[in-house]
Amino acid sequence: MKIVVKCPHCDVEMKAGKDAYFDDNNDIIVIHDVFRCPSCGEIMLSSEQMKRFVGKLSALGLWGEGKRVELVDKRRAL
Ligand SMILES: [Zn+2]
Repeated sequence: MKIVVKCPHCDVEMKAGKDAYFDDNNDIIVIHDVFRCPSCGEIMLSSEQMKRFVGKLSALGLWGEGKRVELVDKRRAL
């Protein structure tokens, strides 16, 4: 079954893509799967993508209490 994710801003179908998560020094830590809006560039993660992303961060010891807020901020900044 194909998952269709629509951008909450543009109401257009978001495309599967990749995004890089950066640390505070702007070093790329993790490349992960996302849905990206071709119109405004908004990025969203499905629950499955989020699970895998968090898993990668956890494996690197980068996921923990307090990191969540920062991550959300970074997502919005994109
Ligand atoms: Zn959009």
